[in-house]
Amino acid sequence: MAKFVTSGGAAEDGKKPDPTILRSKEEMRSWSRACRQDGKTVALVPTMGYLHDGHLSLVRCAATRGDKVVVSVYVNEGQFAPGEDLDVYPRDPKGDLAKLAGLCDAIFMPEALYSSDDSHQTWIEAQHLQQPLCGGSRPIFFRGVATVVAKLFNIVEPDIAVFGKKDYQQWLIVRRMVQDLDFPVEVVGMPLLREEDGLAMSSRNVRLSAEDRTGALSISRGLTKMKDAVQQGAKDAITLRQQLVDEISLSGGDVDYVEVVDARDLQTVKTIEQDVVVAVAARYGGVGGVRLIDNMEMSP
Ligand code: AMP
Repeated sequence: MAKFVTSGGAAEDGKKPDPTILRSKEEMRSWSRACRQDGKTVALVPTMGYLHDGHLSLVRCAATRGDKVVVSVYVNEGQFAPGEDLDVYPRDPKGDLAKLAGLCDAIFMPEALYSSDDSHQTWIEAQHLQQPLCGGSRPIFFRGVATVVAKLFNIVEPDIAVFGKKDYQQWLIVRRMVQDLDFPVEVVGMPLLREEDGLAMSSRNVRLSAEDRTGALSISRGLTKMKDAVQQGAKDAITLRQQLVDEISLSGGDVDYVEVVDARDLQTVKTIEQDVVVAVAARYGGVGGVRLIDNMEMSP
């Protein structure tokens, strides 16, 4: 088993030394165990790479929560159904390594996390929480997400794991899985980060044409208008939802769903009398185009 030197924290300028790159599950696990033998806590940030500032905000948060930070970069084939965008999902491992320099202690970039002979049989399902929203249009998505997160938790054995609320449903499902299956991991949720013009940061944005990128601004614009209306006392979720659907459709977006849901259990809300999340998925560029998701938390 490989031995790792884990001494050395952040340098005086707050930057960490060059991260250790780990390619196998065994290397990853022994690095993490060596950290904990040194009395250090380990914070994990799972990603699919093609990193942007939204991802890096999670890494910076992880550095404030754990002594050692590991970022995983792995496009999880287990969450893509046939015909989805696995093959064209943006990848840039070199760019990711450059962006992470000075921010984390280790980068876990495995070749594969599933066996190559199609023999993976065990999946984690989150029952009610995985039914609505993205679970409705991507039936195997959340079992793939929950399963790969469980695998990462077993391989990395982190004390803390940081997720973005850009994927609000995913964040709720991971929290619930940790609670239901007794993973000894503290799950931290970080706010969704946007580009200056309001577009939710996403690895997939690079695949938008200039015209579709402009159209896609209707999502954050509509969500912001809706939040303002709710803050001013609007409660009729059905009317507000329809206004948002119309705004996105007029901009050329093909709406997959727009839902006003209870922030805790994702059940559809007709009258806004509690904390809600308004969740959107819309495709730009027609068949084979780019499916974007976005959401905004709102309170009456
Ligand atoms: P992904 O690489 O898309 O699987 O995302 C990895 C992690 O980064 C997930 O926890 C996402 O929720 C989070 N993330 C992605 N985009 C954003 C964003 N715009 N703001 C905050 N977190 C994000």
